[in-house]
Amino acid sequence: MEIAIIAHDTMKADMVQFLNEHRAFLQAEDISLIATGTTGGKAENAGFKVMKMLSGPLGGDAQIASRVAEGKCNLVLFFKDPLAKHPHEADINMLIRVCDVHNVPLATNQATARLLLKAIEMQS
Ligand code: PGA
Repeated sequence: MEIAIIAHDTMKADMVQFLNEHRAFLQAEDISLIATGTTGGKAENAGFKVMKMLSGPLGGDAQIASRVAEGKCNLVLFFKDPLAKHPHEADINMLIRVCDVHNVPLATNQATARLLLKAIEMQS
């Protein structure tokens, strides 16, 4: 299972904490992580193996959307900042749309991400 992680700047600390809390699950052999550039760097610093795309504003969200469309990425955990404006809003909305088009689970906040991982853990 390929899991994408993306966190806007104000959410990056929450993402690292989330990753640490789910370390055992996320470092299992059958899980691979991909991330937008800066989020991926933070995850690497926390000891995770991550395939890094470009930074979000430079096209990283679009690259992740492409992997979702190609059936390569199975789950997207996106800690969005709903209070900030983003220069790449079009790419963010495109990623959300592509997840809907391909029926790929997408969490846009931490509470939903927790529930999704719990559900996957219960299935396996
Ligand atoms: P970043 O991108 O991880 O490179 O900061 C996230 C985003 O803004 O979509």
